[in-house]
Amino acid sequence: MSDDGNTEPLHTAVLILGSGPAGCTAALYAARADLGPIVVHGVQPGGQLTITTDVENYPGFPEGIMGPELMERFEQQAARFGTKFVQGHVTKADLSQRPFRLEIDEGESVITGDALIISTGATAKLLGIPGEGELMGFGVSACATCDGFFFRDKELVVVGGGDSAMEEATFLTKFATKVTIVHRREGLRASKIMQERARANPKIKWLLSHTPEAVIGTKEGGVTALTVRNVKTDKVYDFATQGVFMAIGHKPNTSLFEGTLTMDETGYLVTEADSTRTNIPGVFACGDVQDSVYRQAVTAAGTGCMAALEAESFLQH
Ligand code: NAP
Repeated sequence: MSDDGNTEPLHTAVLILGSGPAGCTAALYAARADLGPIVVHGVQPGGQLTITTDVENYPGFPEGIMGPELMERFEQQAARFGTKFVQGHVTKADLSQRPFRLEIDEGESVITGDALIISTGATAKLLGIPGEGELMGFGVSACATCDGFFFRDKELVVVGGGDSAMEEATFLTKFATKVTIVHRREGLRASKIMQERARANPKIKWLLSHTPEAVIGTKEGGVTALTVRNVKTDKVYDFATQGVFMAIGHKPNTSLFEGTLTMDETGYLVTEADSTRTNIPGVFACGDVQDSVYRQAVTAAGTGCMAALEAESFLQH
């Protein structure tokens, strides 16, 4: 059902799926091009930024801004030019013909679009251990670039053994006094060069063959420890730390398009070089759903703009 309670099938020239920085920017541009975009978003609109606290690297906000407030502003700006926001869980996408057809909440409603912009983002994988969710934004983070600055002179943990973990740990040493990489195996998955860079950094310490079991702390006081288990000895103990960064990978939100849109081996949508065009004409992808490299709000907004301009050009031709 649409936000205004209308149960009639909706049609738009530009249908946008996802309301993070990419989707909202695409909506802003499409709305200003008089294309009357509709944005479909889930129960938690705004994407990953809504689980971030301060955002200090989005240009134009010299004092920083809270993630949820930034996303509210993104939405307001898109709405100001006529974007319609619809809440619902898309359960089926039919891209076999135009207009493209999205089924919401198991067919409760249907929205069709002459062009479709996919900006469903990616979700940082989490461990699912006690304390992790509760302390997210209060000492637990899944983005060093976003939150590292708040951990100046602290001792931190990075969980993971891939390139992300090496990169995040190395980045965090700019602020932290010590960064311990906690990894469940003895061997790392990270590329040799990234491993070597991390190993050469005197601020980086290693806790290998250890799995995290719980994050200890409070919202008021922040994180105080990570409970870990030594997989070789089974010994469980609290490892003192003031912050925990999860770097165990991201999962792009693309399951809806499996078998329809071209994806890479990890599920990111593949777009043409320097473009947001997917393998289906009229379907565009922007933001983290097609970007496993930069994953920043500002880059997502940039590709959102590209998607709207490309959709507009597609519709004109
Ligand atoms: P990744 O390569 O999939 O590594 C994830 C790491 O997290 C692995 O070490 C894995 O352990 C660990 N892990 C996963 N689930 C876990 C769990 N439940 N409990 C404990 N540990 C868990 O992910 P990534 O590091 O984000 O990299 C993704 C892709 O992006 C890779 O292709 C990478 O090369 C690329 N990337 C490149 C750069 C760069 O070149 N600058 C930077 C970042 C990422 P196991 O090893 O035991 O499976």
